[in-house]
Amino acid sequence: MNYGRTPLDGLPPRVTICEVGPRDGLQNESAVLPVEVKAEFIARLVDAGHSLVETTSFVHPRWVPQLADAEALFAVIERAEGVRYPVLVPNERGLERALDLGVRDIAVFGSATESFAERNLNRSIDESLEMFAPVVGRAREAGMAVRAYLSMCFGDPWEGEVPVRKVVEVASRMMALGCTELSLGDTIGVATPGRVVLLLKALAAAGTPLERVAVHFHDTYGQALSNTLAALQCGVTTVDASAGGLGGCPYARRATGNLATEDLLWHLDGLGVETGVSLEKSVETSVWLAERLGRPSPSRTVAALRGNRPIASRSGT
Ligand code: MG
Repeated sequence: MNYGRTPLDGLPPRVTICEVGPRDGLQNESAVLPVEVKAEFIARLVDAGHSLVETTSFVHPRWVPQLADAEALFAVIERAEGVRYPVLVPNERGLERALDLGVRDIAVFGSATESFAERNLNRSIDESLEMFAPVVGRAREAGMAVRAYLSMCFGDPWEGEVPVRKVVEVASRMMALGCTELSLGDTIGVATPGRVVLLLKALAAAGTPLERVAVHFHDTYGQALSNTLAALQCGVTTVDASAGGLGGCPYARRATGNLATEDLLWHLDGLGVETGVSLEKSVETSVWLAERLGRPSPSRTVAALRGNRPIASRSGT
């Protein structure tokens, strides 16, 4: 069935989706998948048209047992031409593991609040930036792209509302280390569009071009697509999303509700914004993966489309 495409003024013609399912998604799932399944998952995402797939994390397996096979996985994935496969690197030891494996893109993970920095990184914001400085410096010398994740950019469960000036200050310090991209995380999903616009305008005014900013929204309160639209209208062109809403399992203790890639694709396809990613293949992959995880995808779009054949599409093709 074809439901058509209707553009809206002020949106970019094309958006890059940073697919975070294999890393941010799977690390927050209680099930641990075999390395072969993860490799097939990544291959399916690339086959669906993704050009940016966050692959795994070199955080110590004690903290993230779901991704303990990072080296084995990275060694077996077949890297396609023109596709970037970033990995999360927490420190210099992680960077060395990444360099040994020929990783070309890394991500580092910071916090806009002291409370989350202490709990997640076990150090203050200043100490975490000191830890990142040599990682980013060495990675850039080696020609790597470095994505800076910044958590708790809108609200923090211990501190409440996070001041825009605090987020801008930490973000600017991370970019000054040499990071090539900044991903703003709404880690607990509390943002609403006015706040998104306020933060993006403040960041741009402080010297971070929005072409280098990505948004990472969680759908905990059902706000992820509203916030995405607001960010795109400000000039952002990279959006993080997780296949099938992985990492958002309502039964998992650490569920945080990543925006589902399929929900984002339905939204962007309807607006006529190009992504290069096939909704049909994405849904098929999420249904396939849900069988391996033993639970259905929390994505509304996957739920609406699964079982329907032929699949509904915007283009009718
Ligand atoms: Mg996330």
